[in-house]
Amino acid sequence: MQIIYNKNELVRILGDFRKQGKTIGFVPTMGALHAGHLSLIGASKKHCDITVCSIFVNPTQFNDKADLEKYPRMPKEDTQMLESAGCDILFMPDEKEVYDGQITKTFDFKGLDRVLEGLHRPGHFNGVAQVVSILFDIVKPNKAFFGQKDYQQLLIIKSLEHQLKLNIEIVACPTMREADGLAMSSRNMRLSDEERKAASLIPKLMKEAKAMMEKGKTVNEISSHVKEQLKDPIYKLDYFAICDSVTLKEFSGSDPNSKPMALIACFVGKIRLIDNLFLG
Ligand code: AMP
Repeated sequence: MQIIYNKNELVRILGDFRKQGKTIGFVPTMGALHAGHLSLIGASKKHCDITVCSIFVNPTQFNDKADLEKYPRMPKEDTQMLESAGCDILFMPDEKEVYDGQITKTFDFKGLDRVLEGLHRPGHFNGVAQVVSILFDIVKPNKAFFGQKDYQQLLIIKSLEHQLKLNIEIVACPTMREADGLAMSSRNMRLSDEERKAASLIPKLMKEAKAMMEKGKTVNEISSHVKEQLKDPIYKLDYFAICDSVTLKEFSGSDPNSKPMALIACFVGKIRLIDNLFLG
C-alpha cells in the first residue's frame, strides 16, 4: 500500500492508473478504523481496480470544538488495518493540503441539511460537502463508497454529486454492527463499560420500532415508546424520527411509495451515537 500525504503526488499517481484504463474506488474516512470502514474497502476492491482510502479529521464538519479535539486519531493502527484489507493507496493529507487556507464554499441542499443531524449540528453537512467535494476533485473516482450508518450524509453526498455533475457512482454500503447490534463507530471506543452496555438499547429500540410499525402502530405510538425507554439519565435523546427515506420529511403513511426509516441520535453519557433502520 502506498501512503501519500501530498495531493499533487496523488493526482499524478492516479492519472497514471487512469491512463492504463484502471477504475478507481474511493473510501473517505476520518480514521480510527473498524470493520465498518473495512467493509467499504472490501466493496471498493470488489467493484474497482484501484482502491483509495483517505483519512482526514475534517475540522469544518465539527460544530463542537471539544468533539474535534477528542476525536480518536490512530494512524499506525489504521495503516496496518488498511494494509491487511488490501487497500492500494492511503491518502493522509493535513489541513493545509486539503483547504489551502481557503474554506469558503457553501452548498444548498434544499432543506435536507437542516433536519435531523443538520438541525442538531448546524453547519455539519456544509463541512462534509466542503471536504468531500475537494477530495472528489483530487481523487476523481469512478465510484465512492459510503456507509448507510450515516444515512443523511449518504443522501447529502448523492445530492452533492448530482449538483456538481461529477459522474461518480455513489455506492451505499450496509451498516456493520457489533454482536449486540450496536452500529460500529469510531466513537464507541470512548464509551465506558457501563455506557457501552447501555448503548445496546439503541439498536434494540430500532428493532422494536420496526416490529411496532409492522403491527400497525402509529408514528406517535412508536416515538412515545422509544422516548419512554430512554428515560434513564445515562441517555440524552437528541432526536428520534420516522421519516420518508428519500426526502427525510416526517413519514405520514399516506403515500404508498414512501418507504419509512427510523433515525435516532442519542447521547450515552457524553458520547453521541446515531443509528437508523428501514421500517416496514
Ligand atoms: P467516518 O470515518 O466516521 O467519517 O466514516 C467513514 C465512512 O465509513 C462513512 O461513509 C461512514 O458512513 C462509514 N461507516 C462508519 N461506520 C460504519 C458502519 N458501522 N458500517 C458501515 N459503514 C460505516
